[in-house]
Parts: sequence; structure tokens; C-alpha cells
Amino acid sequence: SPLFPALTEASADPDGPGAHRPALRFGDRSLTYRDLAAAAAPLAERVAGAGRIAVWATPTLETAVAVVAALLAGVPAVPLNPKSGESELGHIVSDSTPSLVLAAPGDRLPAALGELERVDVDIDVHDVDVRAAGAPHPTTDHATTDHAPETPALIVYTSGTTGPPKGAVIPRRAVATTLDALADAWQWTGDDVLVHGLPLFHVHGLILGILGPLRRGGSVRHLGRFETAGVARELSEGATMLFGVPTMYHRIAEALPDDPALAKALARARLLVSGSAALPVHDHERIAAATGRRVIERYGMTETLMNTSVRADGEPRAGTVGVPLPGVELRLTEEDGVTAVDAFDGESVGEIQVRGPNLFTEYLNRPDATAEAFTADGWFRTGDMAVRDPDGYVRIVGRKATDLIKSGGYKIGAGEIENALLEHPGVREAAVTGEPDADLGERIVAWIVPAAPQSPPSAEELADHVARRLAPHKRPRAVRYLDSLPRNDMGKIMKRALPHD
Ligand code: ATP
Ligand code: MG
Repeated sequence: SPLFPALTEASADPDGPGAHRPALRFGDRSLTYRDLAAAAAPLAERVAGAGRIAVWATPTLETAVAVVAALLAGVPAVPLNPKSGESELGHIVSDSTPSLVLAAPGDRLPAALGELERVDVDIDVHDVDVRAAGAPHPTTDHATTDHAPETPALIVYTSGTTGPPKGAVIPRRAVATTLDALADAWQWTGDDVLVHGLPLFHVHGLILGILGPLRRGGSVRHLGRFETAGVARELSEGATMLFGVPTMYHRIAEALPDDPALAKALARARLLVSGSAALPVHDHERIAAATGRRVIERYGMTETLMNTSVRADGEPRAGTVGVPLPGVELRLTEEDGVTAVDAFDGESVGEIQVRGPNLFTEYLNRPDATAEAFTADGWFRTGDMAVRDPDGYVRIVGRKATDLIKSGGYKIGAGEIENALLEHPGVREAAVTGEPDADLGERIVAWIVPAAPQSPPSAEELADHVARRLAPHKRPRAVRYLDSLPRNDMGKIMKRALPHD
């Protein structure tokens, strides 16, 4: 069955009832399903038969059309982050060997892409109908051609939070099943209108934010750049859902006290969803207090697409990412499955492993990394540590590699200490790491961006604050003050880039 039924329908019957429904809007440019089918068709024809293609993934209508065209043609697309440095782009291009790059007319491409053939995505939105009518009929109707479920849809490079980015090969099957599982959980339909302010080179912004609405036959309004005024405007003008990362919800939480219109708009939304990193409890609670709405968290990753969330009729709870989505198997294990720790006791920490139709196929050119990532019986090792509450809600403790601190015989998650620190009025941003310690094995170190740089809270004060809220053994032994935390384009804290590493 086709990946985008509404698009197939609009292509087959351009005057049919669904053809004039809105599909994509970026700023003041928009495409209906019929326009989108007409804009993507010649491009699909152009790229058909290519091995792989790269997409210069700016947050634009062109990027969305380019990816849709590649999917219609059954050609794997490699979205490139335009903010990546030359060496990262060079690595991605030489690793994925695309035969051409799709870009918006006028985009300047860096030297790292120099040798790649460039094809402009030319969407004259006022002209689409005319061109489609006058254009020679493509030999293949790509919108109605089906491709095998295991055909690679996208090759998405991981964020590189913990090491050099790896190209996850994501089959069509995974895209379809994860979007349908989310639709089930969130009661996501063609009537939903999504507000979106995320970049388009990752799973969250591209697969959930663009392909998600298109799979449902609904629509998306992209803000170009995230700003709270845009969110307030779109939600008050009928948009029903908002997808964001924690840094966006943090900005919303900060703006709410002085912005009653924003509070009113958020209160109207059907669904506020956060993901890509942990949403600090403090921000979750501030938004709930100001709007009466609780943000739903979903947990996923490039390799598995989406694993868990809360149902639209369920109860979002701060600090948790909900329960496994339909079709996703999830277990917590210690020592790689030797010990199951699915105790549902809210205490026993294990690595999250997942299995299901949402999983990627392999890391491109990395059979070693692929083999390491799976257990013998096909569970994917996420590298994320979690506990399960008695009612099944998953509470992420952090990444095994950077967020689990073994100190004085305890296993301590960085996240809960970060949450506690963020509740101190003198703390604007916080990250917690472990450092080797002769006595304790590891000692807890807090990296703080103070709210007022002239009068930062003292190390003793912060240690006491944490010890009072959590437990004495969770207090930071050292506090380091920074002007900002190193973050990647998704707003994730890059702990390996903290100065002591
Ligand atoms: P790399 O794998 O290259 O180090 P990355 O893991 O950050 O980078 P992504 O696949 O984009 O790359 O991110 C997935 C990770 O993000 C998850 O493994 C998890 O650690 C984190 N994550 C995603 N959603 C959540 C969430 N709701 N709460 C906490 N962590 C989350
Ligand atoms: Mg990862």
C-alpha cells in the first residue's frame, strides 16, 4: 500500500474531494495535496533509478518536496544538516555516496559537496497547476507505484551526541509502522494541523513532523524558525498539535508568565508533544500550571524511530516517557539480557532494549557497529538506561555512556540531579557528569549556567539543595560554572564536549 494515500489519491484524481486540502505550509508558501503531487512528480521522475540522493535539508518547502519525491521514486534520501561543518558533511557524503544533491534554487552549497551533481527543487507554487497540465506525461506515475516494505526510505545520520554520526538505514516499513503507531496512540487524523519549528534532517523534524501529517492526509505549518509568537498564532488559528524539543518548551515556559495569549493558545491545542531529549520536570510543571495542559513526552531514536509515548486519552506524567507504542516490544535488562530487570518497581535500573517493525535495518558501511547494536535474538541495545513504574510508565535515567554515574556503590542517573538543580532559582541550565574519584569510583560534578552570572549560587548551596530534594549521596561534589552548555542543533547537551573531556 502507498506511503501517502492522500497524495496517491490527489494524483489519480486531481479534482477529487481531497486534492484541494492543504498539505504543507512554510511561511506564506503552501501546497495542497494536488500541488504537492504535481511538484513532486517531475522530481521523482528525475531521481528515479538513482542509487541514493542527498537532500540539502534547510527548513523549507523545497526540502519537504524533495524528500516526498525521493520516497515516491523509491530512492533512499540522505538528509544533510546545512549547519554541519565541512568535515562532517564530507564524512556523510563519502560514506553514503549519493549520486546527486537536491537543493532549493539559490542555496549555496559548501565545498564539501563540490563534486556532487546538483538538482534544484523548483517549486513555483503559483505555477504548479499550469506546469503539471502542460508538462509531458511522466512515463511512470510514481505516486501510485508501490515499493517493497524493506526498500530503504531514508538514511539518517545519528545526532553524534556520543560519537561520530552513523548512517541508520531506515526502511519504508519502519516509517509506515511508527507513524501508524503514533496515530493510534495520539488519535492523530487527517483533521489535525501540526505546528512545527524543528529542523528537517532528523527523525523528529522530518519523519514525524513532515511525513507524519502527510501519511494521515492532514497538514503541517512550519514556522521556519521556532518562536513563541508563531506558536501562539498558529494554535490560535486552528492548529491542533505542536511538536517540539525541550529547549522550545523551556522558552515557552519562560515566556508564559508575561504572555497570556500564548497560555490561551496552548490551552486550546489537542496535543503538545516533546521529544529528542528529556523535558526537565521544572518546565513541564510550569507549563501545566500556566495552561492546564500537560506536555506528552515520546521517546525514540534514529535507529528505532518511536518507542514509547502516552496515549492522547492517557495521563502524561512529568519525568516519564509513557509506555511502549503498539507493536513495540520493550524490555529493561542488565548484563545484556542475562538479568531481566523488568521489575516495574520504579527503582531497578536496566538498559532499554527494543524489538519491532519500527527498527532500522543497519548502519551503513558499519557491519561492526550493526552487529554490536543487536543481541543474538534481535533486540536493539538503545544504550539508554531506565526504570519502570508499577503502572508500566518508562522513566529514562539517562544514557549508559554519559548519564549513569557509579558513585560509592550507587548507580545514580544524571537526569534526576539535573532536574533538582534546575528547580533552584539561581540555575538557568544544568548538566551532571561523573568524574573518576579515588574514593567513590566516580564523583558527581555539576555544570551550571547561573541565572545571574554576577551572583551564582555557591557549590555548598547547590549540594545542599540536591541533598535535601533527593538523597545525600546524590549531592554534587564539585560545581563548575559556564556561560552556556554545549548543545547540538536539536538542543541536546553534548556532554562529551564539556571542557574536562
Ligand atoms: P548518537 O547516537 O550519534 O550519539 P543521539 O543518540 O543523540 O546521537 P538520536 O538518535 O537523534 O541521536 O537521539 C536519540 C537519543 O535521544 C535516545 O537514545 C535518547 O538518549 C534521547 N532521547 C530521545 N527522546 C528522549 C526523551 N523523551 N527523554 C530522554 N531522552 C530522549
Ligand atoms: Mg544514539
